[in-house]
Amino acid sequence: MIGGGKNNRRPKPQPLTDMEAVDLGNELSSYLSTVAARTSPAPGSGSACTYTCLICHSVQRDMFNLRNHAMSHMPEDSPVIRRLDSFIEPHILQQGPSCYTCFLCRRPIRRRYKEVRTHFVMKHLDVTFSA
Ligand SMILES: [Zn+2]
Ligand SMILES: [Zn+2]
Repeated sequence: MIGGGKNNRRPKPQPLTDMEAVDLGNELSSYLSTVAARTSPAPGSGSACTYTCLICHSVQRDMFNLRNHAMSHMPEDSPVIRRLDSFIEPHILQQGPSCYTCFLCRRPIRRRYKEVRTHFVMKHLDVTFSA
């Protein structure tokens, strides 16, 4: 089978399912649950749950915003950040001070490293609110 393969790879960002990724996703999920509280909408209001950040008391209107927001509070020296960094390292290539390529989705990320972390949390890890 040589020469017959169409190279049709178009990887979609999807949460990784290997043990390490699942583990890390769980760890980040429990971090999320310690820094935010879910607010149930008033019955019949038709609106969705919101989340209140317990650190700065801002209201995040959905999980997407909450994940993004909670990352900004995460201390640089926390064990979970160090774990996230060592998870990310083999999956990215740094090409400049604010230029990275993510091997998982083969996309350039022209942002600061902090945003690379957020990229992984948003796209490649399964981080949910579990409280
Ligand atoms: Zn906050
Ligand atoms: Zn990616």
